[in-house]
Amino acid sequence: MLPSYIIMFEKTEGIVLRAIEYKDTDKLLTVLTRDLGKVTFKARGVKSKNSKLRAADQLFAYSEFTVTDYQGRFVIKEAVCKELFAELQTDIELLSLASYFVQICDTVAQESDPAPELLSLLLNALYALSKLKLPQTMVKAVFELRTACIAGFLPDLRACAVCGREDPDRFNITQGVLQCATCRSEEVNGIRMPVSSGVLNAMRYICSADPKRLFSFRLSEESYAELSQITESYLTMRLERGFSALDFYKSLFL
Ligand SMILES: [Zn+2]
Repeated sequence: MLPSYIIMFEKTEGIVLRAIEYKDTDKLLTVLTRDLGKVTFKARGVKSKNSKLRAADQLFAYSEFTVTDYQGRFVIKEAVCKELFAELQTDIELLSLASYFVQICDTVAQESDPAPELLSLLLNALYALSKLKLPQTMVKAVFELRTACIAGFLPDLRACAVCGREDPDRFNITQGVLQCATCRSEEVNGIRMPVSSGVLNAMRYICSADPKRLFSFRLSEESYAELSQITESYLTMRLERGFSALDFYKSLFL
């Protein structure tokens, strides 16, 4: 245990998941960081005009933070904003989808548990949405399924869990396994969704691809929609919760 007068500095990169006003001029930022996992940073004086921390306090902003760890509280000493993803703030579909992604990260990430994989996935997904303008359903599906893998819910997509056939046509979202429509057993029960072979191959790809090549596959629009329904059902089933930003995003298409 260090004496309390010793002040430690730490550098880490992170994306702002939440920002709430605190006192007159401060904000409390919930940040997904590479080294500290999900963490709360206090941004002192950030609401004053000349604050050097402005920009870094915005939702989705990706920055390198230098923080002071003083008696278990992190205070931002310096923040170098690397990317704002400003495109997300001006398009309601992109904004709500990106908000859904940060809500997922907020749920999955743990305090004091380094999250390099999740941070890089979120960063790549926000980049794919805002800069590359990739299809939203595709980015959503990749993010959902890959997050499930990172969170410890890697599905078994090798073959039918009952008969061993390699091209089954059902995905069991309760158990994360494949089945043929006609294959049932006492051990393998739960909710099943139809899965076409193209979508199954995309799921296998998403679970195993190099992080840099995650978004390098293409399907038809109908197949993206099928994929996205499956990955959404699987992730929300595994996390045992819904997301307000997802409900809002889906309401935009009704
Ligand atoms: Zn089977």
